[in-house]
Order: sequence, then C-alpha cells, then structure tokens
Amino acid sequence: METEPVTDDDRELVRLAEELLAKCHVPGRHRCSSALRTTSGEVYTGINLIAGGRADVHSEQAAYANAVAAGDDDVATSVAVMYEDDDASKPMQVEPACGVCREFFYTFAPEVDIIFPRDNELEKAPLSALLPVKQ
Ligand SMILES: [Zn+2]
Repeated sequence: METEPVTDDDRELVRLAEELLAKCHVPGRHRCSSALRTTSGEVYTGINLIAGGRADVHSEQAAYANAVAAGDDDVATSVAVMYEDDDASKPMQVEPACGVCREFFYTFAPEVDIIFPRDNELEKAPLSALLPVKQ
C-alpha cells in the first residue's frame, strides 16, 4: 500500500482530536474523536455518539457534519483517536477509520487521506488505498 509520512499539519490534527476527546470522553458513550482538515486549511472536529447499534454516530461523521454546516466540506485529511480500552487512564492512540467511516467518506469525501498508525509511526494514505475495489 502506498502511504505518505504525516506532516506537521497532520500532527496538529491529531493534537486537536486528542484535545476534544480529553474534554468530552465518557466511557461507553463518547469514546472516539476526530479532526479533519479541508482543502481551505480549516479544521473541524467531532465526537462520537454511542446510542446503541444503528443509531451510533461516528466521530468522523460528526466532524464532517460540522464542516458541511460551515459550508467548507472539501475534506483533505482525517484522523480519529481513542483511549486504549476506552480508559482515560491509558494513553490515547490514533485509530484507523473503521469500515463504516471508509464507506461514509467514499460517498462524501472520496479524495480524503486517512491518518493511521503502522509500526509505531503515523502514516497517511488516500481512501482509495484503504477500500476494496468497487464495481
Ligand atoms: Zn467509524
């Protein structure tokens, strides 16, 4: 898979997602946060909403909704963070976008780059590299 190293702007996205999660974390209710940067350079964040099953809202979706509400929805890069084991006494970690969010971005922001961890480093890859081929 073709990946790119993260930039200082990408690390700032991670920091903003971590800042939001530290503020809003409630175990089992709000356990994941995201930050995304649009092509305009603006950053939007979102927290997940665990309602139980199909009514859940993922943090990437919440961040994207905030970008849409601002009229600035051309997403360039996205990241999500969680506490290990949903436990705020443990470190936060970058999580790769889940399958639902990959499909979500395929519909709304197919050009997005996703930041994810690999071999104890952060990398990013275009969404197209993270989805199976659709026909
Ligand atoms: Zn997700």
